[in-house]
Amino acid sequence: MDDFRREVMECRRCDLCQTRKNVVFGMGDPHADILLIGEGPGAQEDEQGLPFVGRSGKLLDQFLDCFDLARGKNVYIANIVKCRPPENRDPTPYEQEQCIGWLYRQIELIDPKVIVCLGRIAAQVMIRDNFRVSVEHGVFYEKDGRLIMGTFHPAAILRNPNHKPLAFDDFAKLRDKLEELSQKETER
Ligand code: SF4
Repeated sequence: MDDFRREVMECRRCDLCQTRKNVVFGMGDPHADILLIGEGPGAQEDEQGLPFVGRSGKLLDQFLDCFDLARGKNVYIANIVKCRPPENRDPTPYEQEQCIGWLYRQIELIDPKVIVCLGRIAAQVMIRDNFRVSVEHGVFYEKDGRLIMGTFHPAAILRNPNHKPLAFDDFAKLRDKLEELSQKETER
């Protein structure tokens, strides 16, 4: 992962390299069973070079903590694009296309059992381009031999607290799914 990280840190494949302060590579347990994928870095993430470090990150950490998970404890966190889109706009299709190869390589290296997409952009890139978080959150799909699920982005939960119990249920389903998978592994 270290050589790969060095390569990504020098990336200039799209124009976001011109306005970024830091490439936000990702962080967590490099052998995690769970990979959380957000959309892209915000201002604080860009400043610190780490994913989900603002208010959204605190909320995400609280959710993880409720299920005895944490970044670095069976969880890895990354984004669809690794540099901050100015003014927190959505990453363009071109920027997503240029960056997604890095994420695919990260997925190969981490080899998670379950991928959780945080928010619409991540779910539409990773699951299906017409994925609707409000309707399909918490549903596990199988893609390329892995389970993948979409849920609400923590920033969306901060904007609309009605989403909080729904997202909490999705994380509970994630915990149950992991238990089911490890049970199956021990029975083999
Ligand atoms: S967003 Fe991705 S593709 Fe664009 S410069 Fe940053 S690392 Fe490279």
